[in-house]
Amino acid sequence: MSSSSASSEILFDYESVNPLFGEGVSDRVNVTGRGIPRKCRCGRFSVMRTSNTMKNPGRLFHCCPNGSDENPNHLFKWTDISMVEEMEEVESVVDKIDREVGSLAKGLDEVEAIKEIAERCEKDIVELKGVVSSYEKEIQELRSLKNMIVCGGLVVAFVYYVIFV
Ligand SMILES: [Zn+2]
Repeated sequence: MSSSSASSEILFDYESVNPLFGEGVSDRVNVTGRGIPRKCRCGRFSVMRTSNTMKNPGRLFHCCPNGSDENPNHLFKWTDISMVEEMEEVESVVDKIDREVGSLAKGLDEVEAIKEIAERCEKDIVELKGVVSSYEKEIQELRSLKNMIVCGGLVVAFVYYVIFV
């Protein structure tokens, strides 16, 4: 019993069925042999048909219009298996996007952490400036105290000179 002769033929229009499975994705999928097959190795575009066999009644498949049970060199692939593979491909793309978004978020977190450190450094610098200016004040006070002591000493020496010399 031939599955292709005992089935109804539907021409499969990839672009109108789902734009996600258009040129880019389908071509890439076909490189690995995964996903919905577009073309048979003989060059003919694949068609989608419904199986009427006892074993797989109503099951969809993609095949080459030149194919038959007697000629296994042409394309034959169950559509549900192809769809699962397409979904896996889309999932892997989504996973990749997820990972990229995750690493971007991580990068943003790092930028935030660096910003926090910079803000803390700025605060520390302001505090240090305050400490330095208070020390400067103390140094100035000590200098004027030293001047007063020197002046006092000179006065004492002068008085001593006037009285005893
Ligand atoms: Zn073929």
